[in-house]
Amino acid sequence: MTILYECGESLPQNDELFMQRAYSQALHAYENREVPVGAVVVHAGQIIGRGYNQIEKLQDATAHAEVLCLGAAAHHHGTWRLTECTLYVTLEPCMMCLGAILQSRISRVVFGAGDSRFGALHSEAYRSQAYDAYGRFPEIIPGIYEEQCRELIQRFFREIRMQRKMEKERAAAQNESV
Ligand SMILES: [Zn+2]
Repeated sequence: MTILYECGESLPQNDELFMQRAYSQALHAYENREVPVGAVVVHAGQIIGRGYNQIEKLQDATAHAEVLCLGAAAHHHGTWRLTECTLYVTLEPCMMCLGAILQSRISRVVFGAGDSRFGALHSEAYRSQAYDAYGRFPEIIPGIYEEQCRELIQRFFREIRMQRKMEKERAAAQNESV
């Protein structure tokens, strides 16, 4: 997919549109055989940071789309304080990324698919702990392009399972022929 907008280019304030930009980032992850999660940070109608999951490429468990995106946004913005910024991410952020969101002072999080296993935003316990520690919690908008975001992740894992099955069958056939 072609990226039509570069950092700093003005876009209308529109959650659906920015979620599509986050989805474009998720496609980069998919093309690189990473779990397809993508994110963008928007300030005053402009994309100031992008990121996609690069755990395998960087061999870094912290290289989630959100963390890389927040880093890029802080670099572009000239400050780590991302107040008045919205993070768009295709999958509900995990506990680590929630920590990064709180530390960055992101004021709004818009996400696509919910993550019942690792997702931290639906947890009332995390929310009340965050309030206790930080005195704030970002506004959360869930479910923007939920189906599309979920389908990409499901397709990725389906293909991985199929590939592993084929590799097993190939190995078994080779053993039989020896
Ligand atoms: Zn995460």
